[in-house]
Amino acid sequence: MNDKDTILKVEGVGKIYGGKLKAKTVALTNVNFSVNRGEFVGIMGESGSGKTTLLNLISTLDNPTEGKIYINDKDLSTLTNKDVAEFRRTSLGFVFQDFKLLNKFTNFENIMLPLVLSGANYKEAEKKVSAIGQKLKITELLNKKPYELSGGQRQRVAIGRAIITEPSLLLADEPTGELDSRSSEIIMKIFTNINKTGQTIMMVTHSVRSASYCNRVLFIRDGKVFHEIYKGDYSNEEFMNKIIESQTMISRGDE
Ligand code: ADP
Ligand code: MG
Repeated sequence: MNDKDTILKVEGVGKIYGGKLKAKTVALTNVNFSVNRGEFVGIMGESGSGKTTLLNLISTLDNPTEGKIYINDKDLSTLTNKDVAEFRRTSLGFVFQDFKLLNKFTNFENIMLPLVLSGANYKEAEKKVSAIGQKLKITELLNKKPYELSGGQRQRVAIGRAIITEPSLLLADEPTGELDSRSSEIIMKIFTNINKTGQTIMMVTHSVRSASYCNRVLFIRDGKVFHEIYKGDYSNEEFMNKIIESQTMISRGDE
């Protein structure tokens, strides 16, 4: 591939778990799609359809059984073990359903951690954390610890940690899965704002409302990309209805 606008390319990717001694599970089959720089892409599909598997392959936590994945023109299968850790730290940001913050550390330290791990200058790292704290409206929470915050506040800290290294691609797996509707809306507005400043985002979600903030939604069924829709000029409300229509069509099995 050689397209400066393409940040992620997934080419003929398949994933089979197990084999030889264990029962085989076909999790993904011939998955093909690309993501352009600046997109905010949603991935939807029923439980067990292969969404987390797909994110794990893109995030280099696991390898495909078939096919290739490129990020910024880099074929992930060519990365050595040492390169993989470095690549993940510098090029990718992660947001999880259950936040995965470290309760021993303050929120400030949690956000700063990726910079510390990549050997950044402490003073500059501190400045970055303060700036992100303002952007995410969590300045007054930074000296607390994660367990002292609500779910929505914790997810804002987790987003801060994910974007502090200015990753090429922000990956989120059900980021609003454990949040009430009010907190979910705040998180989706933050995603929308950081996307507007150029951050590419790929988000797995069950929530039609959360997905309606995306520019494009891919639907996965039985390990295949079954359908995709673009938001275009639709409002969130209109796009939500389109997403529901697509889900109904997919569950009927036609296209
Ligand atoms: P989703 O995130 O859409 O719910 P997953 O990607 O977690 O789906 O799972 C897709 C399929 O692969 C399911 O059938 C699941 O049971 C299976 N699977 C996921 N992870 C593993 C694993 N580590 N070993 C074996 N099978 C797995
Ligand atoms: Mg999952």
